[in-house]
Amino acid sequence: MAFMDLDHLLSEPTDAVFETLVAVGPVEDAPLTIDTAVVLGGSVAGLMAARVLADHARRVVVVEADALPEEAAFRAGVPQDQQVHTLLPAGQRWLERWMPGLTREAQDRGAPFVGPEQAITAFDGVPQASEGEGYHLLALSRPLLEVLIRGRVAALPNVSFLRGRATGLGYRDDAVSHVHYLAAGGDADDRDARTIEVDFVVDAMGRASRLAHWLDDSGYDRPALERLEAPINYATALFERPVKFADLPTAGALALYTPRYPSGGVSVAAAQAIEDDRWLLMLMGYGDSRPGRTVDEMRSAVADLLPFFATVAANEPVGDVVTYHQAESRRRHFTDLHRFPARLVSVGDAVASFNPIYGQGMSSAALHASCLATYLRGRPDLDTPARAFFALQQVVVDAAWAVSAGGDAARLDATNGVEVPEELRLQRWAMEQITAATLVDGAVTDAFLQVTYMLRHPATLADPALLARAVAAGERHRQTP
Ligand SMILES: Cc1cc2nc3c(=O)[nH]c(=O)nc-3n(C[C@H](O)[C@H](O)[C@H](O)COP(=O)(O)OP(=O)(O)OC[C@H]3O[C@@H](n4cnc5c(N)ncnc54)[C@H](O)[C@@H]3O)c2cc1C
Repeated sequence: MAFMDLDHLLSEPTDAVFETLVAVGPVEDAPLTIDTAVVLGGSVAGLMAARVLADHARRVVVVEADALPEEAAFRAGVPQDQQVHTLLPAGQRWLERWMPGLTREAQDRGAPFVGPEQAITAFDGVPQASEGEGYHLLALSRPLLEVLIRGRVAALPNVSFLRGRATGLGYRDDAVSHVHYLAAGGDADDRDARTIEVDFVVDAMGRASRLAHWLDDSGYDRPALERLEAPINYATALFERPVKFADLPTAGALALYTPRYPSGGVSVAAAQAIEDDRWLLMLMGYGDSRPGRTVDEMRSAVADLLPFFATVAANEPVGDVVTYHQAESRRRHFTDLHRFPARLVSVGDAVASFNPIYGQGMSSAALHASCLATYLRGRPDLDTPARAFFALQQVVVDAAWAVSAGGDAARLDATNGVEVPEELRLQRWAMEQITAATLVDGAVTDAFLQVTYMLRHPATLADPALLARAVAAGERHRQTP
């Protein structure tokens, strides 16, 4: 259906809006309402936005500061791209709808599509219960995923890429009308600054986006930045994988450890079979815990964890350990701005970047692209600020923030001995019941995974019947010798 009644959609319950966004796919008769759309930033969020815009604009130009490699390769503009990047089912299904056959293409390039029978998820060493068909996870390196998505977007006849660093926006009649950029190789003092005339701009410049400053400098409201302390330390290493994916009893594992478990400071461990017959092993610690800067340190850190990790780490290492530190989760609030230019939206990490351990970043970006498709199908007045877009996006950001920031806020409050209000205490208690029940009740696991995989809204976990079931399952578990 090409037309979307935005007012009607936004009047629906939040979980229904979320599920509409999860299911958005391309339509044949999308309204062509934009002449030149420019996407600032050619990483995952920018590419997904460009795919959507290609149906609504005569031409789409992606402005990216980095040289974009033909083959999968790490690049400076995405400093996190050597770390594990789990593509949640919401993101994988979005890609498959908008770029049909991408999963198969990834598999043909050696990326395993790991089913539940070859995967383990464990809490403090106890595996999660499962029921039903479960979910497949496409396991590949972040650079390979990006190169596959970029290949699809670059093949669209009305999309082009321009190498340059965006430096600001120009405005006419309170709408964005120009993008200023420095052509490749230029620096801030370079006279070779250039300008493109535009009808619509998407900021996809990632966590370090300067959009808020540009708006402020031009007299518009600056979107408020909310921060939540979540100091995480990642260490990732690649190892050779001598066994073919099909012959592996286990091809992927995710293990979470609470401070009760003697894990040597490892809070999360993950290992995935990825392309090029490699294992990718990642260990994460909070605060002062830095689990491994060398392969030997990583090997000793996994010694007390699920034995699978030691099996992976016993293989021949490929390259060095790469570490990454992030201090906080962040989101910017765009819905309550009074003075904001028309023809401008922001997507991906530029809007919200969370504790990455929940793996929500790329799937959030996919749902932001769904917000863009839904907004443009609503035939909005493009000469007014894109408030309906930001209202839809807020539903997605709130949902992701509830999952990731909820856990971090609870951990912080517990560490600092903070007394929390009764309602919040109850919400956290309910979440603990659900998480504990996933160890014994496959139906609870399925409801939990649908939320953590961004297929359903977190409000679905507040269902009293589900909570009662979780409490009963937990009780049975405690009584089992
Ligand atoms: C350690 C870590 C692990 C993660 N793990 C996962 C995971 O498991 N699963 C998951 O889904 N997500 C994960 N993420 C999040 C994921 O990396 C991002 O959500 C994803 O890359 C989408 O981000 P983006 O496209 O918005 O921004 P980015 O990927 O940061 O890209 C921004 C782009 O903008 C370009 N750019 C910046 N400024 C300019 C400018 N002025 N002009 C032109 N171009 C510019 C940059 O070069 C870059 O290409 C992880 C993040 C971190 C930090």
